[in-house]
Amino acid sequence: MAFIDLHLHSRFSDGTYGPEELATQARRCELAAIALTDHDSVEGCPGTAQACAAAGIEFITGTELTAEQDGNELHILGYGFDTRNARLLTQIAKFQSVRQDRVREMVARLNRLNVPLSAEAVFALANCQAPGRPHVARALVAAGLCASMDEAFDRFLKKHRPAWVPKFKMSGAEALDLIHQAGGVAVLAHPGLNRTDEVIPGMVEAGMDGIECFHTKHSTATTQRYLELADRFHLLVTGGSDCHGLNKGKPLIGTVEVPYHYLEKLKARAADLAAAALPH
Ligand SMILES: [Zn+2]
Ligand SMILES: [Zn+2]
Repeated sequence: MAFIDLHLHSRFSDGTYGPEELATQARRCELAAIALTDHDSVEGCPGTAQACAAAGIEFITGTELTAEQDGNELHILGYGFDTRNARLLTQIAKFQSVRQDRVREMVARLNRLNVPLSAEAVFALANCQAPGRPHVARALVAAGLCASMDEAFDRFLKKHRPAWVPKFKMSGAEALDLIHQAGGVAVLAHPGLNRTDEVIPGMVEAGMDGIECFHTKHSTATTQRYLELADRFHLLVTGGSDCHGLNKGKPLIGTVEVPYHYLEKLKARAADLAAAALPH
């Protein structure tokens, strides 16, 4: 049976792998297809598409957007859209500048706590357009100001800790619309992680196409529950590892077994949406 991994991050957001490493890892895992889903970024898609083509692996364009619905944080995965879509790129550029401002604000709060980190050090380490909290944490460790990423989050960066800064979020419906108008399929990421089941009916109403049933942090019972939910609401099923590179010495890529047939249905839906998005 052929397997896929539709949830991967690269160095273009908070992951560590570049395009070639991702393709190499995908081949090592004998994956038939992968999608790159960097936070608020599509920058890594062209390079990863090329590396996958060379490695004989099918590539699906993707991204992971952060949204908020009824006070809950949601992650919305987009798949199969046009990475050159003007409105999508304009919005992504806006999210990226918001992220950069947020890093500056977190650093300012750290400085007020007499933690001598500079925003430039974070940006240099992040080396991407979509910096975030993990980069601030890594910079704190690199500067010897924290012993580990966990310590950085626990002392400073976790929600309601002293250097935490709230994040601007669009609504769930806006995220769906942004992906749809670019010809993509919109999927709710790791619902078991955010415990956001109550928003699902409203998101389905707003046009959400699918739900990520298979995920590293979903137990077998959780996966089963979302597979039943997908069935009930006639949603596409997706899944992936949410790999960010090495995790305790091993990458997560390929560790969540998602059968290829789910991708067939996703591609069929994406083709319908792309046709609808074309100017008539
Ligand atoms: Zn996520
Ligand atoms: Zn993710």
